Amino acid sequence: MAYIPKLSWTKLSVLKTCPFKYNQCYNLFNWSPPTIIMTFGTACHTIFEMMYTSGNFDKKYWYDRWEEIYKAAIANQKKLPKLTQKEYKFHLYKGYGMLKRFFETGEKYNFLKGVDVDLVEKKIELKVFGEPFTGYIDLLLPIKEGTEYILTDFKTSQKKRKSDMAQVLVYALCAIKMGYNVTKVAIFYSWLGDIVILDITKEHKAGAVRYLKTVVELYHKLQKSKKYEAKKNEYCKYCHVRAECPLIKTRKRV
Ligand code: SF4
Repeated sequence: MAYIPKLSWTKLSVLKTCPFKYNQCYNLFNWSPPTIIMTFGTACHTIFEMMYTSGNFDKKYWYDRWEEIYKAAIANQKKLPKLTQKEYKFHLYKGYGMLKRFFETGEKYNFLKGVDVDLVEKKIELKVFGEPFTGYIDLLLPIKEGTEYILTDFKTSQKKRKSDMAQVLVYALCAIKMGYNVTKVAIFYSWLGDIVILDITKEHKAGAVRYLKTVVELYHKLQKSKKYEAKKNEYCKYCHVRAECPLIKTRKRV
């Protein structure tokens, strides 16, 4: 069976930020190696998923389970370099702090409610401008007795990024296409202890459509021309393909 590459938010944002990096990752399969930060994020998402699907928001219960979930995330990440005790403990305790803020913020914004299993880690699978597009919606939180939803994305990063809102709006557009009456989007910054909520307007929807159209057109253009040029950006210093990059003078791997 022929391999049909699917687009995703991550792929499209890498393509828009730096076509060279996109080519390295998705055409030449030069993947970024797993890091403890990514693994920590996976463990956090797992614990949130378990809370929402079980409807159990008992703090003590989850504090007691955190180490087990964190260890399982590390064990599942086969290619993760072996952690020192210091690194292990650093992220373990970081997790307790993050959980504390998750509960405080969730309570404040009334976000701690159990939902149907179907509304957590909801898979997106549809076509955008003729291309298969996939992704996972962290949470569709019902409001107004289930007639409307707040599409919620959990972020465990230590800072807010401009692209966070663009991502949730694109996901909201997808959820609406999938038949969910999504009227709000929320970014739950669990590490920062904040939730940013936005009412979706016609302009937001039009903006998300424009974004997708522009990037899918770029994808088609680059597929034909094969000219994947490097574009310097704020994430260059973390880029795992720096050693191959024509714009970086010090060819040092990170
Ligand atoms: S270092 Fe920057 S410009 Fe070079 S490939 Fe990576 S993201 Fe692109």
